[in-house]
Amino acid sequence: MDLGLKGRTALVMGASQGLGEATALQLASEGAHVVLVARRENVLQEVQRRISEQGGSAEIAVCDLFDVNSRRALCDMIGKLPRIDILVANSGGPAPGMAPGIASEVWAKEFDAMVLGLIEIIDAAVDRMKGANFGRVLVIGSSGIVVPIPKLAVSNTLRSALAGYIKTLSEQVAPFGVTCNMVLPGRIDTPRTKAIDAGGAKAERVDVEEIRARSWAGIPMGRYGTPEEFASMVVFLASDKASYITGIQARVDGGAMKSVNV
Ligand code: NAD
Repeated sequence: MDLGLKGRTALVMGASQGLGEATALQLASEGAHVVLVARRENVLQEVQRRISEQGGSAEIAVCDLFDVNSRRALCDMIGKLPRIDILVANSGGPAPGMAPGIASEVWAKEFDAMVLGLIEIIDAAVDRMKGANFGRVLVIGSSGIVVPIPKLAVSNTLRSALAGYIKTLSEQVAPFGVTCNMVLPGRIDTPRTKAIDAGGAKAERVDVEEIRARSWAGIPMGRYGTPEEFASMVVFLASDKASYITGIQARVDGGAMKSVNV
């Protein structure tokens, strides 16, 4: 199937590792020019090198979502790109914490980066997409907005705010051929997931394999997803083939979210 991605430009945030990296690699292998965004330039250069080796095309933009000036610079860059057809709005996971009792400063700092920061960047991209009568906005969320994860109160709450924004936006920009969707990972085997499992094993003084086995037991597929499996959904929704799909939350979770409706 030709996804129609040749000649498209995709800006992928959090492209230095995990879900963002896998998405960037797959978009590049489908022929899109990819703008790789994250904080660490040297790591992005490594991803860029791999894309080049595979015959793809990529450039780098450094941005820290916690830094307002850095976000502004990225928005300015988006305004000047020759074109931007696809935005993958992805970020690091927010600080863990259980409700109640999370400090107001934590809420404010995380809201500024994860919600306001992403909205600024999404708006800058959508502005260009509307003018071109084509666009794909993909926001990486979490299963926690369907089934809240007790230890991740900030994530559950702020990603739900973002979900509200994306759904609202999707209606406004649909007449311009711009689609806006969220993709919800369940448990995908990224460096972040490995670090969380290693932390759990250390805290409980058990083998990491035991932690993983317990986690897998709650997933009908009986395993974590691969970053490539996750990226396949993002890439499809970014493609010409997904032209009539907007405002949805697509789950990539091996069946882990048990509810019928999102
Ligand atoms: P990850 O930690 O492996 O990668 C996160 C990416 O975001 C990296 O490229 C990192 O450099 C970048 N990043 C982090 N903080 C940033 C900042 N302040 N400014 C700019 N870039 C920043 O995470 P992942 O596993 O690839 O997950 C991606 C997102 O999906 C995260 O928000 C995560 O919480 C969420 N998520 C992941 C899973 C999973 O199973 N992997 C499940 C649910 C939700």
